[in-house]
Amino acid sequence: MAKIYSQSYSARYMRVYRADHPEYVKKDYENRIRYRLELMDILGGKKCKQCGFTDNRALHIDHIKGGGCREYKPQHGYNSMRMYVFYVKHPEQAKKKLQVLCANCNSIKRYTNGELNHFG
Ligand SMILES: [Zn+2]
Repeated sequence: MAKIYSQSYSARYMRVYRADHPEYVKKDYENRIRYRLELMDILGGKKCKQCGFTDNRALHIDHIKGGGCREYKPQHGYNSMRMYVFYVKHPEQAKKKLQVLCANCNSIKRYTNGELNHFG
């Protein structure tokens, strides 16, 4: 039978782990950026699909049909990097489900489609 850890337990554990392992925090951050950029390349490049904006600091990986949080939280263990890694390893699924949008276009899309979440 699969072991189920509660979110609060693993979040607490990771907080303590991060405090004791600053090198892990740095590596985790670098990996997150690396996988995010790699995923953008899979999706056609570091460029907003809507308006062509190219500064990757303000580019987002967007779920075409919305519901990104709902999808990746249970499946990928509440960790956006695991989602990036998953889609880098499954590029065909990534191309079907994801697109690159800039912060502006992503906000406008969420507003237009009624995909508002806790970010407003
Ligand atoms: Zn845009």
